Amino acid sequence: MRKFINKLLIVILAIGFSFCEDPNTEDDQLVIVNASLFNTSTLQVEKNRSIFIRNNRIKKISGTRSGDFALNNVVDARERLITPSFIDVHNHLNFIFGDTTEITNPNEFKRSRKLLTEQYLPYGVTVVRSAGGRELHIPMVQSWMNHHQDYVDYFPSGGALVSLDTKFYNHAYVADSSEVQSKIREYHKLGIRHIKLYSLIGEPELKAAVSTARELELNIFGHIENAMISIETACNLGLTNFEHAKTLFLEVIRKYEAASIDLSGLPPDDEENWRYREYEVFNFIGADDPSILSLIALFKKNGVSITPTLNLYAQPIGLVNNSSQPTAHKEDQLNWSEEQMNRAKLGYKVLAAVVYKLYENGIQLNTGSDNYEPGKTILSEMLLLNDLGIPMSEVLKIASLNSARAIDMEKSYGSIEVGKKAHLVIFDENPLVNPLNLLSKKTVIKDGILWKQH
Ligand SMILES: [Zn+2]
Repeated sequence: MRKFINKLLIVILAIGFSFCEDPNTEDDQLVIVNASLFNTSTLQVEKNRSIFIRNNRIKKISGTRSGDFALNNVVDARERLITPSFIDVHNHLNFIFGDTTEITNPNEFKRSRKLLTEQYLPYGVTVVRSAGGRELHIPMVQSWMNHHQDYVDYFPSGGALVSLDTKFYNHAYVADSSEVQSKIREYHKLGIRHIKLYSLIGEPELKAAVSTARELELNIFGHIENAMISIETACNLGLTNFEHAKTLFLEVIRKYEAASIDLSGLPPDDEENWRYREYEVFNFIGADDPSILSLIALFKKNGVSITPTLNLYAQPIGLVNNSSQPTAHKEDQLNWSEEQMNRAKLGYKVLAAVVYKLYENGIQLNTGSDNYEPGKTILSEMLLLNDLGIPMSEVLKIASLNSARAIDMEKSYGSIEVGKKAHLVIFDENPLVNPLNLLSKKTVIKDGILWKQH
């Protein structure tokens, strides 16, 4: 008898639970009906979908039925394309607040968070990862770690670790491997989960950083350009996330220097010329250099991902579409001759060809801004990736799923799937039909709520 009662109880409970599971209740926070859903895994568009959102997350996806329209809080997507939101894996707060602003008064944290958010959400970017910032801003960024529907989801890193004392405000100096370890443990205690390495770090320190990050399960990434350590060595020591595609060329030019190859045709590497020199380095090395190709092979073998930051090189020389162009700042206003500009444009083509090779070889690419107006820059970066010949469907994946993977947050972001956060973009005009539609009007949903500028 007791067994029977138990069984009966289980059946009753099961029926009860299945009622709780009923998706079409009034409790859904938001239901988007009649959507053309972009699937970042298959790169296919799934038409006529309903997306049910509860507790900020996607609860269910199904075919749209007439009953769906009758629910509360319904958005009719009218067959428009809906994609996961975009991610910036390379933010520096100084681009938002200025190089000299020091925000340490807790009364200002909220206002700053709002300013940061306004730079991103109108462009469909809802997730931002710092690529190194001031340590004195740690209390502020800690206060942002409790994510909130009204603001962009921000993931801080500490200062970018260097073992050469640069005194640069976005760097944190660590003298040796034991200081590296204690610094990373200190960051970990503060809740920081992302560790940035800058090029001016020695081999033992980089090694210690990679192993400490691994032990504490932290995400670690670096801007390495062979000043003190090569990309090749860093990669062999276990670093698998690199910033700036241009660093591949700078690595090769150091190899040429070491091999005493005549570089006298290049502009001098000084304060006045370094910037132009970089484009000439691209021209000098070319996209088919064996050392570049062997780096790509190493990346493939080690499962490396790269954040190319093409906009940084395209924008100053006028290769960015006018309507997606972030405002040029004084350091981007170059007084180069027409001939130099044309040489720089050729150089950019070489850089772009290498980024395309990375893509062709299956190296994961991510989107990072490293710029003023970072949200706008992410859209510009996406258009530049498309200009290389990468299909827009892949570009949408790069800015969402790939970039979510790069910051180890694939569980929450990067695709429209049950269980993930409801961070979505509905495009008025379809970017898969015309890439420039990426700049068309957007409805941005953050944590299941239609975002509006307050
Ligand atoms: Zn940077």
